[in-house]
Amino acid sequence: MRCVIGNWKMNLLSTEAAAFCETFLAHHVPVSGVAVGIAPPFPILRQVGDAVRAKGVRLFAQNGHAEPKGAYTGEVSMAQLQDAGCAGVILGHSERRQLFGETDAALVKKVKAAREWNLLPLLCVGETLAEREAGYTLEILGQQLSILAETGPGPLWVAYEPVWAIGTGLRAEAGQVREVHAFIRTKLDQFMDRGDYPVPILYGGSVTPDNFPELLDIPEVAGGLVGGASLDPLKFAELVKLAG
Ligand code: PEP
Repeated sequence: MRCVIGNWKMNLLSTEAAAFCETFLAHHVPVSGVAVGIAPPFPILRQVGDAVRAKGVRLFAQNGHAEPKGAYTGEVSMAQLQDAGCAGVILGHSERRQLFGETDAALVKKVKAAREWNLLPLLCVGETLAEREAGYTLEILGQQLSILAETGPGPLWVAYEPVWAIGTGLRAEAGQVREVHAFIRTKLDQFMDRGDYPVPILYGGSVTPDNFPELLDIPEVAGGLVGGASLDPLKFAELVKLAG
């Protein structure tokens, strides 16, 4: 299975989202074997989910809190995400880790909570430029993936997103992506039974229709987690087509 997931981050008002959906749906051709998802900001989750569901597009959230309810001002629970129609939730995006202090310990709880509420966790991992230049890439990724020893087996998607390639126009070279994706697979095999929960490994970081075909040719690259290009309905529809 291949996957193309759009991460809208903190972009689009409801009118802009409606315009996106109209254009995207006019060009989107569902392809068998390609899972398509969109992760809008919280206030427009339900609106976007309702608009795209009929064409098989899954609704993702960009984050969720591990507790089902309570005094956590400003947070949104996995229960509420499920109630809003989400099928999955992006967890551990580097912007959450870097800007909001998200820790691996918190992610253990979030992955477990997502599964409890039948949400597919899409766990993001990736190294910073300083970590890559210091030769610590695989060590950092191994550490980020080691939370899976604590979450136990269960449904999961993983996205490798080199932090230095997100929103920068820079893209990891094919050799770098190949090395990391193979490494992630060995770690997943260590923590999970492949037969029970096949885990697709997506690539993220300045993915566009121009570079997507080359990325998809790399072994273990099962698709893309797409930021900037997912805000353009024609580019997003094109990415889906390329994954087919
Ligand atoms: C992302 O936010 O996950 C991402 C990969 O962004 P971009 O495609 O803009 O680099």
